[in-house]
Amino acid sequence: MIPPSFEYLRPNTIPEAIAMLQEHGDAAKILSGGQSLIPMMKLRLARPSFVIDIGRISGLSHIKEEGGYLKIGGLTREAELEVSSLVRSKYPILADTTHVIADPQVRNLATVGGNLAHGDPANDHPATMIALGAQVVANGPKGERIIPIENFFLSLFTTALHPDEILTEIRVPIAPARSAGAYLKLERKVGDFATAAVAVQVTLDRDGICQKAGIGLTNVGATPIKARRAEDFLRGKKLDEAAIAQAAQLAADEAEPSADLRGPVDYKRGLVKELAKRALVLARDRAGK
Ligand SMILES: Cc1cc2nc3c(=O)[nH]c(=O)nc-3n(C[C@H](O)[C@H](O)[C@H](O)COP(=O)(O)OP(=O)(O)OC[C@H]3O[C@@H](n4cnc5c(N)ncnc54)[C@H](O)[C@@H]3O)c2cc1C
Repeated sequence: MIPPSFEYLRPNTIPEAIAMLQEHGDAAKILSGGQSLIPMMKLRLARPSFVIDIGRISGLSHIKEEGGYLKIGGLTREAELEVSSLVRSKYPILADTTHVIADPQVRNLATVGGNLAHGDPANDHPATMIALGAQVVANGPKGERIIPIENFFLSLFTTALHPDEILTEIRVPIAPARSAGAYLKLERKVGDFATAAVAVQVTLDRDGICQKAGIGLTNVGATPIKARRAEDFLRGKKLDEAAIAQAAQLAADEAEPSADLRGPVDYKRGLVKELAKRALVLARDRAGK
């Protein structure tokens, strides 16, 4: 299918892109990797008159540790994240996540910034960034502002980004020793969106007691879900079978799935419980290594 006609704009700097967003308002859309926007335009679910391609703005593609954060540029491609030795060695949850997004063709173009900015609860990075306690950096006419990830997803396909703001970076706090995470997803077939998925990040003390837990749920609500009750329950607990089972049940209770082609509500809730259990075990074992 061919998308409706639009004017293609290609800014070279962030201020130029912001000025274009201000000038064209609701009629404009940012284009990063185009892996969600272009399909939506083809399906007539989005009809921007102006498409602002930020792909050639320099300084928006990086993966580096700096100032206590892992900093991921908004334009960083999934494929770059997937092969990053820093990500593979220190951020297994991110490696898990990027690896199950779509297929290699999509991952060659899709960006991490676009994955979050799209505001789709079926996308995989949102839950992972929730588990990691990430921050989103937005640049607009008034400069830069930092949005905690738990305040970023407002409703279906709606984020806290203002219409004249660009997501320029994601910041993940560098976790202390004995921290690790995992992302587990069930999909109907390779390359599909999740029927459900669970992201878990834990920090343990020397005795294996959980100091901190982050849990995010994918595609079981109108927004990605932060499983706060399960997180709170785990703090101060040894991550044994009983504690993990109870946390997994709490996470399942916090899910708000709807029945659709991927399955009925009870099935999805059961899936969250099982995936949360397995992700907690994996995160605990990785953190304990
Ligand atoms: C076949 C297929 C399978 C897929 N499977 C999965 C999957 O399994 N898991 C998954 O998570 N995703 C999946 N996706 C969706 C896609 O991978 C993500 O949504 C993608 O990462 C979006 O990034 P992008 O750079 O392509 O964004 P774009 O398509 O360019 O933009 C998406 C939206 O975000 C806005 N936007 C983009 N970048 C910015 C920015 N820096 N600042 C402000 N707004 C911005 C755009 O205006 C647009 O509204 C799939 C897509 C396809 C085509």
